[in-house]
Amino acid sequence: MGKVIIFSAPSGAGKSTIVNYLLEKGLGLEFSISATCRAPRGKEIHGKEYYFFTADEFRKRIENKEFLEWEEVYPGCYYGTLLSEIDRIWAKGHTVLFDVDVVGGLNIKKKFGDNALSIFIQPPSVEVLRQRLTGRGTDAPEKIEQRLAKAEYEMTFADKFDTIIVNDKLEEAFREAEKKVRDFLK
Ligand code: ADP
Ligand code: 5GP
Repeated sequence: MGKVIIFSAPSGAGKSTIVNYLLEKGLGLEFSISATCRAPRGKEIHGKEYYFFTADEFRKRIENKEFLEWEEVYPGCYYGTLLSEIDRIWAKGHTVLFDVDVVGGLNIKKKFGDNALSIFIQPPSVEVLRQRLTGRGTDAPEKIEQRLAKAEYEMTFADKFDTIIVNDKLEEAFREAEKKVRDFLK
């Protein structure tokens, strides 16, 4: 079994920003491309940020037991990790890097135990989260409200993770994340 590193956080906390930073550090990490049935955002493309499936196709793959885990993250909107992703990445001798929701993150940690490092990215406050989601400019106001409503609930799970990084000053969060990852991979 190879290693896995899990990043979870409320949407807008800065997970993708930190994950993308780490992926460029030459640490042997590879992003686990999740499947989703939400529509692509901005310049996202199938097979890079996500595998974009229709809800029907997604449900068919659930029936075929193709997922390590899946969640209905928002009503009618599934997200999940395909088992084939883990095989693909481990076959290259790389460490799998997950960007998943909080429940998915805890489920994955349970499956991989000591071979997994679970990291919770915490925003300094819900107000800052609102500013970041608004500033990102990728979600309609009602989608932002939906994400914020979920964020308060998700933050109650923070202490169930192996470690927490508060993403206030981005440079500090980068440094802290890189150190934790390097220590885990030693
Ligand atoms: P997530 O992947 O958790 O949904 P993103 O990485 O997309 O979040 O970050 C949400 C927005 O906040 C982006 O516009 C990003 O540039 C910005 N952001 C991330 N971290 C910080 C930070 N420490 N300070 C200010 N803005 C940040
Ligand atoms: P977004 O729509 O902002 O890309 O993602 C919404 C939420 O779904 C985020 O919290 C993200 O981490 C989560 N997510 C993305 N992929 C997966 C996955 O494979 N499984 C689970 N459980 N959540 C995921």
